[in-house]
Amino acid sequence: MARVLEVQGVSKRFLGLKALQGVTLHLEEGEILAVIGPNGAGKSTLLNVISGLLRPDAGRVLFLGRDVTPLPPEARTHLGLGRAFQIPTPLPELTVRENLLVGALFGRPGRSRKEAEAMVEAVLELTGLAAKAEAPAGELTLLEDKRLELARALATGPKVLLLDEVMAGLRPKEAQEAVDLVRRIRDAGVSVLFIEHLMPVVRALADRVVVLDYGEVIAEGPYEQVAREERVREAYLGR
Ligand code: ADP
Ligand code: MG
Repeated sequence: MARVLEVQGVSKRFLGLKALQGVTLHLEEGEILAVIGPNGAGKSTLLNVISGLLRPDAGRVLFLGRDVTPLPPEARTHLGLGRAFQIPTPLPELTVRENLLVGALFGRPGRSRKEAEAMVEAVLELTGLAAKAEAPAGELTLLEDKRLELARALATGPKVLLLDEVMAGLRPKEAQEAVDLVRRIRDAGVSVLFIEHLMPVVRALADRVVVLDYGEVIAEGPYEQVAREERVREAYLGR
């Protein structure tokens, strides 16, 4: 299977602190990969390096076989690397549909208005937001907010989607709906790398799990396997 994303030997320091140390991992086409680890393990730093918000001190990021390490975030979005944040940041005065249109138009330059509108309709349908299309984004429930955050990332037309704890704050039933949505997204042809604290979500969703601790990969494999590993248990118990 093709590797749509590769992180090779990435290190990142903040002053004296080694947030990432020689992290190597990959995402395959059609895969849902979870990155887990205790608080402060480096998960968000890793996503920031992949999406281009942070420059690594060493190592590189390959997207669809191309070295994107020198590229700013917008350029990576334009190539098809999408990202949704833990704290949704829609434009609250605009409607749901208008927010998605902004993503569809600016996330992919060169796309015509007509293509962008068609993309928006497809994303509204996929994310179950069609009934809320005319609602101002500032007036959504928490679950709808999360859906919109995913939808905004999807409207850019990503090949790979990066998710940083997008289920945080959801009740179990809502989290289950979000899990179903991420599956539908993958089935629509988008590979997914997600960070998640909720272990039931990781177990339900991930094809494969990478565990970070103190900025290093300490385990990798199917959930049931890594959850049994001594080093992983210690990492979680030790915090
Ligand atoms: P996680 O997302 O796994 O909880 P982070 O990637 O947010 O971990 O943080 C990894 C480590 O790097 C932590 O010790 C954190 O305090 C530190 N860190 C993260 N961002 C910065 C920053 N901008 N400046 C200084 N230290 C940072
Ligand atoms: Mg984090």
